[in-house]
Amino acid sequence: MSRVEEITGWSDGALERRVLDAVSIKVPWRLVEQFSKLVRLSGSPEERRAFDLLTKQLTAWGVPHRLHEPLCFISIPGPSGVRCNGTAYRAKTPAMSVSTNGTDVSGELVYVRSGSGHSAFDVFSTGVDFGGTRVAGKIVLTEGMASPGKVRDLMDAGAIAGIFINPGQNIHEGICTTIWGTPDLDAAVRQPTIPVVAVNHPDGQALIRAAEQGSRGAVSTQLDTGWRTIPVLVAEIPGRQAPEEFVLLHGHLDGWHFGVGDNATGNATLLELARVFWRHRRRLARSLRIAWWSGHSHGRYAGSTWYADTQGIDLARHCVAQVNCDSPGCRWATTYNHLTAMSETVPLVDAVIRGTTGIAPEPERPPRAGDYSFNSIGLSSYFMLSSTMSEEDRAAHHYYAVGGCGGNIAWHTEDDLMDIADRDNLLRDMRVYAAAVLRTLNAPVHPLDWTRTAAEFRSTLEGYRQAAGSEFDFGPAQAALNGLDTALAEFYAKAPARGSARTAAVKRFNAVQRRLGRFLIPVNYSRMPAFWHDPAVNVPPLPDLAPASALSRAAGHADQLGMLRAHLTRGQNRLVWTLQQAREAAGG
Ligand SMILES: [Zn+2]
Repeated sequence: MSRVEEITGWSDGALERRVLDAVSIKVPWRLVEQFSKLVRLSGSPEERRAFDLLTKQLTAWGVPHRLHEPLCFISIPGPSGVRCNGTAYRAKTPAMSVSTNGTDVSGELVYVRSGSGHSAFDVFSTGVDFGGTRVAGKIVLTEGMASPGKVRDLMDAGAIAGIFINPGQNIHEGICTTIWGTPDLDAAVRQPTIPVVAVNHPDGQALIRAAEQGSRGAVSTQLDTGWRTIPVLVAEIPGRQAPEEFVLLHGHLDGWHFGVGDNATGNATLLELARVFWRHRRRLARSLRIAWWSGHSHGRYAGSTWYADTQGIDLARHCVAQVNCDSPGCRWATTYNHLTAMSETVPLVDAVIRGTTGIAPEPERPPRAGDYSFNSIGLSSYFMLSSTMSEEDRAAHHYYAVGGCGGNIAWHTEDDLMDIADRDNLLRDMRVYAAAVLRTLNAPVHPLDWTRTAAEFRSTLEGYRQAAGSEFDFGPAQAALNGLDTALAEFYAKAPARGSARTAAVKRFNAVQRRLGRFLIPVNYSRMPAFWHDPAVNVPPLPDLAPASALSRAAGHADQLGMLRAHLTRGQNRLVWTLQQAREAAGG
């Protein structure tokens, strides 16, 4: 076993067994039942009752915690509708759509065929391909969820309203802005400027027929959008050896309707982990922060973004990893096939899930979604959605892709009720979270493998190199990557073989590991400077170099080629400079 495998495979078997044995379904299941009676709209009195249940419980156990009340930009949808040829269709408007204050916006209907997306991640990030159809001044009818990328494309094309045809009988709630968290001066211009609604599949088919006959339609919306205080609850269990170093475990409390699978089960998981880790607090090397956010559903991750903003420097210095908890413990969720983990955390995640459940996970690159508000800071991250239904089970139920609830299509609808939660799956998933967090808290050397990240970069770069052909030279990036590889091999070979989290040599080594993340994660997940927030649309790997894929299509177009080469040159400079700094940090 190599030294880096020893580091990522570290565990304290005896303590882990005790901690996992202490995880119980009793308290969390009661909380899920209590939450299943509360509609938790961001900043609402019912949501506050849910927060009160948590703070009462934490107080009773003696777990230190603080309730923050930041002022954030929040949008709560009200009634909306679609009318066409004398028929009124049921509709829902997503958060952050323009409100027409209930009056009709009328225009010619135009249908643009669009995919609904195959995986949970497509739900968050895809755009619309108009295929030459002119939509300016018209109401666009298209398939899918009213996702930010699609709504942005409609706005850019000059549509006056959007009607999204959801794939099933239910209409899914959502949020349609690309602005991540509370808008700043740069982001504010991206606030949606058109009314948007979603309708169900049968109504959508009727509207497509009307559009094909040249009919006009009307859309009306009502939303309460503005600044309101929202609760953010953070518990902190101090570690004994390196208390300034911490793991951030977090999930959203606000949601849509009764939100049992998304995300009462996640809130219950966080509460149970607070109980269990508090009970074992004398055995924790580092500190554990557990955060319950509001503003996720109605403020595009406003709570976690506020935390990233206000704790930015502390997070950059001391956070070992951020661990997100959304939709664990759902019905029929027997796989970990849509589990997300950054490359350096994959060995840890893989070992934990196999060890605690016997299931082989299939970790994927985290999408630009789910309270990952820390990418531009460069925090190592694992988990977002948890266990999920298998492809076969989804097909057997004729389920389409959704963005939570373990693949159950009750996601973001009135049907996300108690039958979506599963006691056995929840207990299993809570144990997964407990084991992963315990190892991250207690491993003397952070269980991160940066050679995996370098290998991911190499394969990403190879893809872009092949796409570019002879049109662009990625040699400088490959040379810088070779330099980082060499430095990392020596870095891990010299990793401290003994000592605890408080040992000076171990602390120095871990500070370098965290610093590697501050270099290597932003360049792979963000186009923004540190501490700023990328829009809520898909970010491809090594995003500055992703336009390489467009080079072959630009052949013969001098202006396009010129701009692409300038973009790639700047992007490669950023990457090379980052890789060199990472190499130097690792001692190479
Ligand atoms: Zn969720």
